[in-house]
Amino acid sequence: MSLPQPIEKPEVKFTQIFINNEWVNSVSGKTFPTINPSTGEKICEVQEADKADVDKAVKAAREAFKLGSPWRRLDASKRGVLLNKLADLIIRDLVYLASLEVVDNGKPFKNALFDMYFGAATLRYYAGWADKNVGQTIPVDGDLFAYTRHEPVGVCGQIIPWNFPIPMVCWKIAPALACGNVCILKPAEQTPLTGLYVCSLIKEAGFPPGVVNMVPGYGPTAGAALSEHMDVDKVAFTGSTEVGQLIMAAAAKTNLKGVTLELGGKSPSVVFADADLDLAVEKNHIGLFTNMGQVCCAGSRTFVQEEIYDEFVKKATERAMKRTVGNPMDFNTESGPQIDEEQFKKILELIDSGVKEGAKLQCGGKRKGDKGYFIESTVFSDVTDNMRIAKEEIFGPVQQIIKFKDMEEVIERANDTKYGLAAAVFSRDLDKVLKFSNSVKAGTVWVNTYNDFSPGAPFGGYKMSGVGRELGSYGLKQYTEVKSVLINCPERNS
Ligand code: ADP
Repeated sequence: MSLPQPIEKPEVKFTQIFINNEWVNSVSGKTFPTINPSTGEKICEVQEADKADVDKAVKAAREAFKLGSPWRRLDASKRGVLLNKLADLIIRDLVYLASLEVVDNGKPFKNALFDMYFGAATLRYYAGWADKNVGQTIPVDGDLFAYTRHEPVGVCGQIIPWNFPIPMVCWKIAPALACGNVCILKPAEQTPLTGLYVCSLIKEAGFPPGVVNMVPGYGPTAGAALSEHMDVDKVAFTGSTEVGQLIMAAAAKTNLKGVTLELGGKSPSVVFADADLDLAVEKNHIGLFTNMGQVCCAGSRTFVQEEIYDEFVKKATERAMKRTVGNPMDFNTESGPQIDEEQFKKILELIDSGVKEGAKLQCGGKRKGDKGYFIESTVFSDVTDNMRIAKEEIFGPVQQIIKFKDMEEVIERANDTKYGLAAAVFSRDLDKVLKFSNSVKAGTVWVNTYNDFSPGAPFGGYKMSGVGRELGSYGLKQYTEVKSVLINCPERNS
């Protein structure tokens, strides 16, 4: 099979705000730059939305959501048809979209292709749900006929991060639109370009004006305007725990809009001595280094049982040293640059703290090259639980390998974190697998694997890793209001 070739210099076609299926400039006239992380150079300027533009988008969305509007009158099954059409268009423009993502985000082309497929798969999954999110008829006491309607919540503000721009757009809009809501998306300021292009596909697919709007801009302005807005009914956010707290507080202070949050993590991956060692090494490598470590559920605390600790460290280091870090347009590249200078500096500072606190640097640890935000694949052994690298979310290509003795101890240590997004366990012993997966406080547990996702499997966090679940049938709940209707029904019979 011939591999698709990336477009080295994809043309940037859309840089404006998308409201009512139209492209508009910002009210303030302001723009902001988006940077290519492989070079540190500016790609282009993008119209910068703030409160005034968010107000316009909310008005358009509200209008699209009015009773009797084309969107509200559309058959549920037709919403599914539109979502499928959008998925088709993303796949039609796969190579262009993936190439644009490489430029704007820095992820390797291969991974960018995967992002597009996963985004499309999510749209297709929820397309199927559009006419299946059914209510109940309820045999209540008395002469009554009772039923529930599953209604859309209304205007949904959706604030997304930069690490998976298109999957995040799709995770947000697919369940919302399947349920009949309208959306205002704020892409991350680092990566607005592919989301804006997808807006052009939303229009092409035939979604009515105002159903999906996009307001590129910064968090404290455009993002805050959404979460504080009195006429936004729900806000869904993916990003850092700190900003998640701000968003929930803003919702509480304004109109008590519904809030779902998918936040940070410091996910434990536990390798028991009986595990398939090579498999465990590879999966833990993938679990940490995928997307340059910029994954909220990255396995950033690798606990390895003492009997196999040294061998695991040796093999994990060899694997990390083999990882290809370089030009993300190259099909063989496994890692590109970090997203921006801020993250790049933060990661190098945390690496430094690891060395200072006594962890053993097995490989990497430095900037790679002298252009862009590339960091060497880094492995630390002899990491202890109190070190910053074992506690803080690094969001970079830095693996922490920690030694443990037995099950009880590792359960306690794995759970000793404010986060609870994901976890993994590696063992051939079913009892061990079940004991650990039942005991760990995490929204997802992988067994003998890592970072596997499916649109049908819910994802979200315990503790400070989030509120609510995305994906699967659980994801529909976040976008559904349940209405009870009780009708006087004289002479009701069983
Ligand atoms: P990261 O650290 O991964 O960049 P953030 O939580 O800062 O994660 O950003 C995720 C998203 O949240 C981005 O779209 C960003 O613009 C937005 N954001 C940042 N600050 C705020 C805020 N105060 N209110 C609303 N959204 C915000």
